Parts: sequence; C-alpha cells; structure tokens
Amino acid sequence: MDQAIKRQPQPHDPRLEHCTLCPRRCGANRCTGPYGFCSGGAGLEVAAVCRHTGEEPVLGGPAGVCNVFFTGCNLRCVFCQNHQVSRGSTTAPRLMKPGEVIAQIRALLDAGCDTLGLVSPSHVVPQVRALLAAIEREGRHPTLVHNGNGYDDPEVLRELEGRVDIYLPDLKYAGSDTAARLSGAADYPEVAFSALEEMARQVGTGLILDERGIARKGLIVRHLVLPGFIDDSIALLEKLAQRMGVDVHLSLMGQYRPPPELACPPPLDRRLSVREYERVVAAAMELGFENGWIQEAGSPDSHVPDFCTANPFDPTKVGA
Ligand code: SF4
Repeated sequence: MDQAIKRQPQPHDPRLEHCTLCPRRCGANRCTGPYGFCSGGAGLEVAAVCRHTGEEPVLGGPAGVCNVFFTGCNLRCVFCQNHQVSRGSTTAPRLMKPGEVIAQIRALLDAGCDTLGLVSPSHVVPQVRALLAAIEREGRHPTLVHNGNGYDDPEVLRELEGRVDIYLPDLKYAGSDTAARLSGAADYPEVAFSALEEMARQVGTGLILDERGIARKGLIVRHLVLPGFIDDSIALLEKLAQRMGVDVHLSLMGQYRPPPELACPPPLDRRLSVREYERVVAAAMELGFENGWIQEAGSPDSHVPDFCTANPFDPTKVGA
C-alpha cells in the first residue's frame, strides 16, 4: 500500500486562505494549516477512484459509476461508514497524486463508465471545479453525480450549476438535537433542506432516464436509517414530504453497521433491526412516497467500503 503523500498546494483559490466554503464557516487557512473541521487542504485530496456497481440501479447502469472519493468531511458523523477517508488525508490509507486521479478516471471512462460520481464534495468545491475543467479539456462529458452529505452552502452549490447533472444528497436528521449529538451540527436540518431546495432549483425534483434506463439528470435523496433513531427518520420523511413533495426519488438505506474502529455509543453500537427498518419504510409508504428504492435491513457488508483494499467495494458482492 502506498504511503500518504504530502498535501498538494494546487489549485489555489483565495477563499481557501480563510475558508467559509461550507456552513461551518470555520475560517481555517487551508493553504498553511492549522486545518479546519473538515481537515481539508488546498489541493486535490482523493483517497480512491473506483468503479461502483452497487449504487441505486439507475446510476451508471451495468457499467457502474466511476466514483471519486475525496478525503475529509465537514460533518464527521460519530457513526461514519467511510471513516477511513472522511477523517482527513492524515488518516486515509492512501492519498492519490492529481495525475493519478485523472488517469484512473480516464481509464474507467474508457472502460465504459459514463457516469462520474463525486463522493463527499461539500468541502472541496474549488478542487472539484478544477478537476471537472481538466476532464472537460479532454472532451469528456460524463453524467456528473454530486454525492454529498447534504451539509452544503447553497451559495457555493450555485458554483456547480450547469455542471452537476444529478444531485444525490444524504438527508440525515430531522431534529437539531440529533444532528448536534451525532454530527456536531445543530443547524443541519435547516441547512440541508435549504441545500436541497437549491439542488432542486438546478436539476428539478424528478429524474430523467435515457432509453437504457440510466439516470441522466435529476435528484435522488438518500436516507440512512439509524438504529434507535426511528422517530427522527419518520419526522424527516414528514418534513421532506412537506418541503419537496412526495414525488421526489427516495433511497431508504438499511445497511447501517457500527464501524468497530469508532466505538459508537448506544444505540449506534448495533445493527438496524428488520422491524425498525420496516417501520420507516411503512411510514414512507403512508406519506405517499412511491419513487425510489428500499433495501433489506442489514444489507451485506459489501455496501460498506474498505479503503485499505485495492477495490474499496467487494466486486463479488455489490449490486444488491
Ligand atoms: S470547508 Fe472545511 S475549512 Fe472550510 S469552512 Fe467548512 S469545515 Fe471549515
């Protein structure tokens, strides 16, 4: 396994010297450090580029999605399923060189992926714009998926207007207390719904599929159901129905597992029960949500990436 490389100084955006790119607005100097809440530097910090065939079935189709995993995160949830890379470049098993990132994207696009996913992009919008410009300079225009945690500044999201084809945000919590306790962000519910409205303004609330049934434009809202937080999940669905309507595509995920390395506090130290997941699915049905996807509670571990391996998603198991 390669060792983590030094932080990359490019691209330079003056805002990175006193960063207010996300709702934390912590003012960190990401060019020199000390780094901010997200641990992000000024350069392109990517832990992995890999093909993923286990996303929602309309994303990428059989060829899968070419996913780019940025290190760092502006939420750092106590139960993070991607904690190997979300805690920053110093904890990521590996940090790729910028040229290597481009080369791997190129290789996967050449191999048939025509959907490019940006995973955890909320704190790296200048770097994302530079990466997209480099890809576009090669004459490549894959369907672009913004796969974030929902804790986005709507003003910053506007910088991606016309570039993002599909927004795939998490919608994590309805309650401020829950958001404060699990992600240190009491304002998450209001921020995330404001961000969702900006995403919908850009791409609409529907989902446009091509003739092969592959998504090309639109919005999919993801919600990971957490053990012991079923009332919050149901409150979230009620709020989503009020703010966005029930036609939005909803992906209800039941794959939660407590990452052993994080020693999650109860009740997050256990898996989601079938009964808990079914309560949330039933609530979604009662509210009138009809578009989207559900899983089985306790879906296989292959949904949880392992960034210490060459392919973070086990290709023998994904696709459920
Ligand atoms: S993106 Fe990172 S450094 Fe910038 S305000 Fe958010 S947490 Fe702070």
